Parts: sequence; C-alpha cells; structure tokens
Amino acid sequence: MGYKDDIPKLAAEVAEQKKKRNAIILVHNYQRPEVQDLGDFVGDSLGLAQEAAKTDAELIVLCGVDFMAETAKLLNPEKVVLLPEDRALCPMAQMIAPDDVVELKAEHPGAVVVSYVNTPADVKAVTDVCCTSANAVKVVNSIPPEKPVIFTPDRHLGAYVQRETGRENMIIWNGLCPTHALMRAEDVLRAKEKYPDAEVVVHPEAPMEVIELADAVRSTSGMLRYCGETKASTFLIGTEIGMLYPLKKKCPDKEFVIVTGELVCPTMKMTTLRSLRNALRDMKYEITVPDDVASAARKSIERMLEIGRGRAG
Ligand code: SF4
Repeated sequence: MGYKDDIPKLAAEVAEQKKKRNAIILVHNYQRPEVQDLGDFVGDSLGLAQEAAKTDAELIVLCGVDFMAETAKLLNPEKVVLLPEDRALCPMAQMIAPDDVVELKAEHPGAVVVSYVNTPADVKAVTDVCCTSANAVKVVNSIPPEKPVIFTPDRHLGAYVQRETGRENMIIWNGLCPTHALMRAEDVLRAKEKYPDAEVVVHPEAPMEVIELADAVRSTSGMLRYCGETKASTFLIGTEIGMLYPLKKKCPDKEFVIVTGELVCPTMKMTTLRSLRNALRDMKYEITVPDDVASAARKSIERMLEIGRGRAG
C-alpha cells in the first residue's frame, strides 16, 4: 500500500492524536491538499501568525516551513510549537543572516529595517518591523517618508513594494524565492494565448516582468478574496501550485490554471499526513528560540500586527 492508500487511516490517527493533545493544526496554503484538509486554519503567513497569536490550544502544530513555526513560537513562548518536518527550511529565509542586517544598518544610519517574515528569528531580532506579502505595502507606508528603508530578504517583493509606494529611499537585499523566481513573462504570455479571457493573478514574490503583466498582485489570502469577488471565470495563477487547491475549494465553478507547472516548492511538499501524525504522536520537532533572540524578534512581529490593526504609525 502506498501513501495515497494510507491517507484515510492517517487522517483518523491525526484526528485522534490532535484531540488527545489539545492541539491546533495551522496549515499554509501551499501544503499538500490532504494536509490542508486537516487544518483548523489554512492561510498565508499573516493569517498563520494572527491565528497563532490568539489560540487557546496547548500545542500548536505548524504545517509549513521553519520561519512560520518560529513565528508561532515567538507569539506563544509558553506553548509547545511543532514543525512536523525538521528539513522544511525555506531557502529564502537562509539568504540573509543577522550580520548582514547589522552591516546594512551601519552603512545607512537612521534607516528602518523591514524584514519579510520569511527570515530566521535571529534576523527578526535585528529588524524594526516585519511584514508579509499581504501587508508589506502598508508596513512600508507606515514609515515616515524621510527615513530610508532597508528591506530584506526578497528583492522581488522589495521591488514590488517600491513600485507601489513610490518610495525611492529603499535599500533592498538580494534574496529571492527560488520557486516564484522561476516565472517568466513568456510563461504568462503563452498561458494568455491559450486562455485569452483569463485574469492573471500573481504573488508579489514574482519577478517584475511577470508582475507587469498581471491584472492583480496578491498574497495567497488576497488571491482567494480577489478570485472569489471578481466576475471572471478563469484565472491564470502565478504562485506555488498548492494554491490551486484552496482556490478551487472556495470557487468550485471557476477555473484556475497555473502559469507554469514548474511552480512547486519542494520544502512545502515535505510535510505529509505521516509526518503530521508522527509529530503529534511523538511530539516532534519542537521549535525553540533562545530567550534573548525571542524577545527582540517578538517586538518586530508584534509591531507588524499592530500596524495591521491600525494602532501603529
Ligand atoms: S515558496 Fe518560496 S518563500 Fe515559500 S517556503 Fe518555498 S522557497 Fe520559501
């Protein structure tokens, strides 16, 4: 029997372990469909952080990648947070280190450091305010215009934010998402030839040549809202392929086509129901963050959440 045949049995075991542990399962939109189906909450990085901040559950299991589980831990220092796959390390988050940020700060005194949540906790600890793809424009707009902004680590999200805010004084780090960076303008144009009436909806981690061809640029939660509210019946989707599942679930009468079939994040696909069952059963892999790093990193995330609630400038 293969993994697919085992899914019903594994799902039942997950449900049983979850009840026993009083756990909440938070799942990113790029996870495998069968993992999404067992999530108490399925969403984007911002949604996962918000859910983590308000949960009463004793145990948080984060089906996603390392920085998401770390963020949940930072917001719940007294709770146990598990990442079912300890190899699920986001490559973009590895593209910047705390020393890089410290050097940039020394080169640009007075600059405000904005880091995408796709960063390790020790980078968040030297960051002024975090952002996600859903709120990056709002976060940068909240910073006084005369202050330079150091934006890390995604150069594509940084370029998109710069375009949207019209802000010239941005110093943008050279990282990227290896999955979203695969998209090319020719992929969109080829797909448009096949589906001329489709709307193009892409993630802001995409290169600018792709963003320029899009009808809408959205985070994954924004895509769900946009495609649900827009009259179009066919959409060309420019993000990780896992996103097709929640889109189809939300809008069963609409058609969603991935811009290029290459948009698979191997890290996001590591978590299976087997790893989720093992995580709950064996209490692994527990996320820990040293206290000094955690208290500094927490501030940068809380500041982001406050901006989202409209309480910070
Ligand atoms: S899709 Fe990109 S940013 Fe997201 S986890 Fe994968 S590599 Fe990291």
